Amino acid sequence: MTNHNPGFSTLAIHAGAAPDPATGARATPIYQTTSFVFENADHAAALFGLQQFGNIYTRIMNPTQAVLEERVAALEGGTAALAVASGHAAQLLIFHNLLRPGTNFIAARRLYGGSINQFGHAFKNFGWEVRWADTNDPESFAAQIDENTQAIFIESLANPAGTFVDIAAIADVAHRHGLPLIVDNTMASPYLVRPLEHGADIVVHSLTKFLGGHGNSMGGIIVDGGTFDWSAKPGKYSMLSEPRPEYGGVVLHQTFGNFAFAIAARVLGLRDLGPAISPFNAFMIITGIETLPLRMQRHSDNALAVAKWLKTHDKVAWVSYSGLEDDPNHALQQRYSPKGAGAVFTFGLKGGYEAGKGFVEGLKLFSHLANIGDTRSLVIHPASTTHRQLTPEQQVAAGAGPDVVRLSVGIEDSSDIIADLEQSLAKI
Ligand SMILES: *Cc1c(COP(=O)(O)O)cnc(C)c1O
Repeated sequence: MTNHNPGFSTLAIHAGAAPDPATGARATPIYQTTSFVFENADHAAALFGLQQFGNIYTRIMNPTQAVLEERVAALEGGTAALAVASGHAAQLLIFHNLLRPGTNFIAARRLYGGSINQFGHAFKNFGWEVRWADTNDPESFAAQIDENTQAIFIESLANPAGTFVDIAAIADVAHRHGLPLIVDNTMASPYLVRPLEHGADIVVHSLTKFLGGHGNSMGGIIVDGGTFDWSAKPGKYSMLSEPRPEYGGVVLHQTFGNFAFAIAARVLGLRDLGPAISPFNAFMIITGIETLPLRMQRHSDNALAVAKWLKTHDKVAWVSYSGLEDDPNHALQQRYSPKGAGAVFTFGLKGGYEAGKGFVEGLKLFSHLANIGDTRSLVIHPASTTHRQLTPEQQVAAGAGPDVVRLSVGIEDSSDIIADLEQSLAKI
């Protein structure tokens, strides 16, 4: 047999997993233990000194978590990964690797609302500065870079409107300035978009959404692309390129090469800040990932059918879905995500605020809640919920004006999804 690389669906089921050597269990066991017995005193010393890999304590590493990490690293085409308690925890550990007080990073303005809060408020307490750039204008990222800039951060498929971003153009800007590009790939998942193939250096996910896929478990993951040279500018990425006193002077980039970023996030960030994923959640998310290709295709196919139908409805003012051929974002969608345009998009009701509220209340199959990426169809009216504290001008700028409704289209029968939308539209 010639060398054969397994396809995406095969990796989604098998990468990182093998029958349990102790019991033969075929599904990955939930290793529900806090700690692991050392073989002897030398083994313990080698583990603590980073001379040998192995399990010590579940805050740092656990065999169920390790399967999840290998699987997502394989699906994204990275060198290694680190799974943690949530998407936000993953973002915290990424920037803990990169930033010092007084340094900054550039982020696309169009991001998940929670990320806007984390970057703009919580990070400020650490002396970490975020500078916002126009998502559709790569040069607006370049314009804000100075000698204290450490990274650029974007979403591949941006919240809340579901628009694809020109990853390669922004990667060019980052690399011209010697900076890594970090891409949040939560909304697309690696089934639709693989940011490392377009120049990203680090990929981050909220596993809570499409990778877990069933709306039942929180998790986050950092994927190391293995592409960035952390030692090119001496002192700039000191966590990676300078001796670590807590590990006897080891230089992580020297010792671990193209997976040093993932190691630093584990042995410095996760060890000291502590947002570990539970083995049970890791198990739930591994199980979810096995059907990722099937689910993501169905999500995208259903969303396209729903968007096309909404466009023809006389109470609907506009539909913004990049899968529609006349959508301004369609060309980027075709280039980055030809298999489909994802589950999440927004549309506007002619009746404005009151119509939006009434429409959401009238739905029966859709769940009204603040999440995306569930098997179930989800809906939210941002102006009366997630964005209600903003001024009307800020709401419009954030894509959350009074008439806007956001859907995360599930994997039910599309005819039932459309029937539910139809009966609620009829009532407003
Ligand atoms: C939900 C989400 C996050 C945050 O993830 P949590 O698991 O909720 O902490 C980050 N980015 C995007 C795009 C998200 O949708």
